[in-house]
This record gives sequence, C-alpha cells and structure tokens, in this order.
Amino acid sequence: MSVSCSYETVIGLEVHAQLLTRTKMYCSCATGYQDEAPNTHVCPVCLGMPGSLPVANREAIQCTMMTALALHCELPDHTRFDRKNYFYPDLMKGYQISQYDAPIGRAGWLDIEVDGQTKRIGITRVHLEEDVAKSMHMGGYSLIDVNRAGVPLMETVSEPDMRSPEEAREYLVRLRALLRYLGVSTGNMEEGSFRCDANISLRPVGATEFGAKVEVKNMNSFRGVYRALKYEQERQAEVLSAGGTLRQETRGWLDAEGVTVLQRTKEFAEDYRYFPEPDLPPLSLDRDWVASVEARMPELPDERRARFASQYGVPTQDASTLVSSRPFADFFDECIAAAGPARGRAVSNWLLGDVSRLINADGVEICDCPLTPGGVASLVDLIERDVLGGPAAKTVLEQMYRTGKAPDVIMQELNLGQIRSSDELLTAVRQVIGDNPKAVADYRAGKEQSITFLTGQLMRLTRGRADPATARRLLVEEIQRAEG
Ligand SMILES: [Zn+2]
Repeated sequence: MSVSCSYETVIGLEVHAQLLTRTKMYCSCATGYQDEAPNTHVCPVCLGMPGSLPVANREAIQCTMMTALALHCELPDHTRFDRKNYFYPDLMKGYQISQYDAPIGRAGWLDIEVDGQTKRIGITRVHLEEDVAKSMHMGGYSLIDVNRAGVPLMETVSEPDMRSPEEAREYLVRLRALLRYLGVSTGNMEEGSFRCDANISLRPVGATEFGAKVEVKNMNSFRGVYRALKYEQERQAEVLSAGGTLRQETRGWLDAEGVTVLQRTKEFAEDYRYFPEPDLPPLSLDRDWVASVEARMPELPDERRARFASQYGVPTQDASTLVSSRPFADFFDECIAAAGPARGRAVSNWLLGDVSRLINADGVEICDCPLTPGGVASLVDLIERDVLGGPAAKTVLEQMYRTGKAPDVIMQELNLGQIRSSDELLTAVRQVIGDNPKAVADYRAGKEQSITFLTGQLMRLTRGRADPATARRLLVEEIQRAEG
C-alpha cells in the first residue's frame, strides 16, 4: 500500500492563458509573435519607456468578462488595474499592470467529472494582466525578446478543492475546453499560451487545517502537470510519514528526470507593494455592457452535453466525449442537421468509433481532415437503409477520410454495396462450404463455433458486402440441406 493512503491531498491550480486579441494589453503592437523575429513587435509602451502611457485593451477585458461569466463568477460594478512591483530582467517597466483586490470575476465554479462523479471546483478569481518578455540563456550571457511583453494574460485561480492529480488533470481539460469554446485562447500548453502552476499540500486524513503548501512550476504539458503532482504527492507523504516536516516552498518540475527540485523557500509573503495603477482610469463594468458580452457567448460544453443527451438520445458518457472539443461538437451538430435527430445515436457511434480512431492516429482535428458532415450523414443513411453493410462501411469511411469522396461514389467504385441478390450470396455460401470441408465436418459433428469461422470466411470472400446475420443463416441452411 502506498504511504500516501494515510494522507489527504489538497490541490489548487493557477492557470495563465494568453488571450486571442489582435493587439497587446496596453499598446497597439500585434500579438502574433510566435514565428516572428525577436523584438519586432515592440513600441515605447511595451518596452517600458519612461513617459509612455498604457491604454487598456477593450477586447481583452471582454474576453475576461466572458470567461468569468462562463465560470459562474460574480462581476463587480467597479474594478481597476493595479501595479505589482518587482524586479526581474524580463519585466520591462519594473512593474506589471495586473489586478489585485478587484478582479473582473470572483467566487465562481467549474464542474468536473471523475469516475462518473460530478464534482464542483470553486473559482477564487479571474483577472487580467500582461505577459512578460522572454529571456534566453545562451551560456555566459542572456538575450531578451520583448515580443511577448504586454500580451494579454488572463489568470484563473481555483480554490484548493481538488483531492487528486486525476481531478487536477480533469479540471485543466475542462477549463481549456471552455476557453476554446469561448474562442478566447488557443489553450496550447506546449507553445506556452496556457500555463499552469500547481499548489499541493498533504494533511492527515480527517484533519481540517491545511498542510504546508508547495508550489510546483515549469510544467509544459497536461501530462507534465499530472506527473509532477503524482511525484509531489508521494514525496510529501514520504517526508511526513518519516516524521519530517514540510516547508512552504516553490519547486520546479524537471520533465526528463521526472522529479521536482527546490527553487526557493517562502519564509515570508512576498511584498509586491500593490497600488492602483495611476496611468489607467478605474473600470466600470456597467450592466448593459455585461449583458451585451453575455449575449455574444456561444453554447457552452455543459449545455451542449445536456442537449445532445436529451434531443438526440446520446448516452451521457458519449455526449461528454462529443463536447470535449468544440470542432468535434460542431461537426456532430452539422451531421445531425443533415441526417436528422433520429440518427443521433448512430452518427455519434461512428464519430466516437472509427472517425476518432482515424483522426487520432494522424493527430489531426476533425475540421482539418477531408471528412464532411454531409458525407458522414450519407454514410449513416446508407447503413441504416441496409444499402451498405457494417464491415464494408468501415472500408468506405476510410476512403472518405483519405479522399474526401462521397460514400455512394466510393461504394460504387469499389463495388461494396450490400449483396442484394440471393443468387450471388448463395453462390458465395456454396464456395465457402466447398473450400472448408474440415470446418463443415466439425459443424456437423456438433462444434457450433465452426459456423462463426465459416461466416468470417464468407465475409472475407464478399469483402464485407454480405449481411452477417443472413450469411450465417444461409450457411446453416445450406449445410443442413446438403446433409439431408
Ligand atoms: Zn507595444
């Protein structure tokens, strides 16, 4: 038994997401810097030149309001920006314009699902700030790229409500899906546009006081967050069960080694000397503005999941998978528009089965492959009308995925339509019986499962064009007839 069983794990997450605005947070420099030459998206404001003045980005504020609303937060009537003072080479002004005690959103929640159970995770706050420049350490000297400085950064802080690395991973998956639905962030962790710091502590099972909190940084994938938390859980349990004590500290995750290492201890709370930003006016979120932002919000995953289950008869677990990515859920909706709601379950089964297998194998999104919703709807229609058999349909789907052709065209080209003529099927049945005397003899001797083998041979001979149930029935009839 793992030593961690005598302790309860407490996890809270801080997520920074770059917002998908056209321009930076406090200046008009373009944000799309990922593939650009260093220091090409800069101006006096984001370089931190004395005398330059910031102007708050309205679109970034609206993205944050939208996220706060989607997370069921309270939005205050009045908010403001604050100066957070600290010194670091990548912080151009010597301070960051952030939000301190009046964030845009507070006291919200996000529901997650782990092992079939729904759990509500509290959201402490959602606030808006700016990204910093990027340092590159060259060995002996360092370079700085200011393109990233001033990109709008939204921070979402959760309550310490998660009790396992699995819950933390699920929270990140749900939060990222939400940001992607809203279209406010790419949510790309590998590119650094979605970053997570995790706070984790342990306490004896039944205790109400929190243990010493360790902050873990430097994870750059969901898997990294999960592994880092697993590692910390085990490490802290070992220290505690050996009678040791834990300090409040910051640790960095080393992905290749699979360990966390001490970065700094936190003896005292850091003093950022926050004060209201004097160069920006206070921000009032008047109710008309909030209402107009709310009106722009798309249907969110929870509502969509419920609609897929109630209107199209899709099982809840399947509906959860369909809504986990917005392009996938959009694709499903478009398929239903073409196929009709009665085909909901059949379409869902194809999307979650063979279609997912094909796109996952190539690592592409459904919107970036040649499949069209109309094509999938026609495929399901051909199957439901018994024009195309299940096994042959798999071949047709694969060709649709490779070529983008319509299913009926592929079916004709490859002659994959369900065998309609009983003569054609009977000829194939007789050939299979003639080719497999041993299996036929086995069946006659009472070995029932031989018929499954013979049916398989028939499906192979007809390249999946026979209806398996009819094929099986005809085989039995024909063997018995020959016997009689
Ligand atoms: Zn600028």
